[in-house]
Amino acid sequence: MKTLLVAEYRDGKLLNSTYELVAFAEKLGAESAMFLVGADSVLPAYNGSLYLADAGKYGEFNPAVHKQLLLDVIAREQPDMVVFAHSSYGWDLAPRISLALNAAHVSEVVDIVDGVPVAPVCNAKLRRQVKSKTNQMVITLQAGAFGLADEPTGTPTVEKIDTDTAPQVEFVGYEEAEAGGVDLSKAEIIVSAGRGIGKPENLEIIRNLAKALKGEYGASRPVVDSEWAEHSRQVGTTGQTVSPKLYVACGISGAIQHLAGMKKSEFVVAINTDKDAPIGEVADVLVVADLKEFIPVLIEKINSLH
Ligand SMILES: Cc1cc2nc3c(=O)[nH]c(=O)nc-3n(C[C@H](O)[C@H](O)[C@H](O)COP(=O)(O)OP(=O)(O)OC[C@H]3O[C@@H](n4cnc5c(N)ncnc54)[C@H](O)[C@@H]3O)c2cc1C
Repeated sequence: MKTLLVAEYRDGKLLNSTYELVAFAEKLGAESAMFLVGADSVLPAYNGSLYLADAGKYGEFNPAVHKQLLLDVIAREQPDMVVFAHSSYGWDLAPRISLALNAAHVSEVVDIVDGVPVAPVCNAKLRRQVKSKTNQMVITLQAGAFGLADEPTGTPTVEKIDTDTAPQVEFVGYEEAEAGGVDLSKAEIIVSAGRGIGKPENLEIIRNLAKALKGEYGASRPVVDSEWAEHSRQVGTTGQTVSPKLYVACGISGAIQHLAGMKKSEFVVAINTDKDAPIGEVADVLVVADLKEFIPVLIEKINSLH
């Protein structure tokens, strides 16, 4: 099995997701080569062939040009799998490559079992293994699903690549997201509200527990999508990635997209009415209780200790 890992470079920096691709190839037990439109001043710590195009010349993203650069490398390397991060770069480029190769495309892969990619389905309530009917396969990896490669080390063998494909668009640059909101990535204690809070008024219970513990409050995506909490509070793939000393998940089932954002927490307490909720698999302590009954008692107990 041979993989071609499509690394990413943004705003003059190599993205960490590059090492998640390496971790994936290691888990698969596959040979790998790497493709990057970046700069030779910022090379990945990687032992293998790196096909490097100059981002200064070809833009940090330019679909037609990057596609051609990549297709040229695929023609040479003949990988069984072309592997992208499930990022805006991967979302855009992976389907173009899969169409050009007439190869199967599996999006948002979260695991690999016996060499077969596993992807979520039904809003991540279920998982499916997807077998390819084509010789080549193009996949994107969900952020955080494969972790980072252990202590990335190594020096790549760099081969510079070029193309004379004309760009169809001009890459103008990045626009900073509006500042504001809370930076949960720095919080040492986070108490997060999930759909299990039932109604927006119950967010107060979560806020009160966060206050009693002198921490911040966070939320799962349904709570944010319902506009019960602002987006800067969202933990997960499409929210913030956090690594507090204590993470308290209240009424959160433990979907993979939520876990991806909080699994680096040192100690996890989950409060859930369902003893079989998947959050129990990552929690150090699972309290099987109705959060509306349990949390007020817990707050009283914590406050009595001060
Ligand atoms: C592309 C994509 C990106 C996503 N990004 C994110 C993301 O960044 N962050 C994120 O969180 N999700 C994300 N999701 C959504 C994710 O798949 C789940 O749907 C979501 O995490 C579920 O949120 P939840 O656990 O709050 O709700 P549910 O899955 O509905 O779970 C609610 C839980 O509350 C429990 N419960 C109910 N009542 C009570 C009670 N009274 N007391 C205690 N427990 C109770 C239930 O037993 C259940 O386990 C994403 C999905 C997709 C497809």
